[in-house]
Amino acid sequence: MENKWWLIEDEETLHKARISNNYKKKVLLQKKLYIFDQDGTTYLDFKPLPGAREIVAYLMKKSKSYVVFISNNSSKSTYTYQKKLSSILDISISENQIYTSTLATIQYLKLNGINSVYAVGTPDFEKELMNHGIELTEENPELVIVAFDTTLTYEKLKKACLFIRNGIEYVATHPDKVCPTQEGYIPDTGSFIALIETATDVKPKKILGKPNPDLINFLLDKFNLSPSDAIIFGDRLYTDILMGKNSNITTALMLTGESKIKDIERYGIIPDFVFINFEEVLQLLRS
Ligand SMILES: [Mg+2]
Repeated sequence: MENKWWLIEDEETLHKARISNNYKKKVLLQKKLYIFDQDGTTYLDFKPLPGAREIVAYLMKKSKSYVVFISNNSSKSTYTYQKKLSSILDISISENQIYTSTLATIQYLKLNGINSVYAVGTPDFEKELMNHGIELTEENPELVIVAFDTTLTYEKLKKACLFIRNGIEYVATHPDKVCPTQEGYIPDTGSFIALIETATDVKPKKILGKPNPDLINFLLDKFNLSPSDAIIFGDRLYTDILMGKNSNITTALMLTGESKIKDIERYGIIPDFVFINFEEVLQLLRS
């Protein structure tokens, strides 16, 4: 793999540094599918991160390219995300540019021929399942699904656990234990899984969402592309970057969110590129 940083002290090193930037630019421009993480990568606290709006606009204009946004949050619908992103970026983002762990779950249900489920999820989540032809039932479901249910009740947990104790398998939309909010970290799906696992002694059959590569593989299939055609920009090494590595696409760590340079060694997850922010990417593309 090529070096990412060069100490420029002579002509030869300067030449190598130029090659390095040219190489990065070439790789970036060759891609056809640009996958963006949202929080910490594209925006933070409802504000676009430096260069994010410009890079999204730039890539959406690039011919034969797709720009999509992914999220592990299964509590909100695609429509909610489409509205939020369009308003933050001040760019018209369409619903078919948004891919959440809910869609990864729906895809999983379809691939496995599952038509009826018991869902521990928000009304938004339930509606999205129904829109894709999945029946919600409280009697003899084929599967139990655990999502980021911000409307969770004891009754729902009880029902889910009784189904699981009776031998019905369960899958979770994503593994995140907590979700960052302006109030602080709040319990997310990973914490619900821990509770259900404690109560039933059964592990989930599958956990979708990042870092599971299914969603990226689904996107590659959908757009008829190969892994070398895609790049993911994300701020978390152990979710975004790991997901990219799990699906063999190019990975770019953005230092605008959670992961810092020192974490690369700590986690042993090495991104192909590291950028301070999208202004650096834009500068590279325009050089
Ligand atoms: Mg993020």
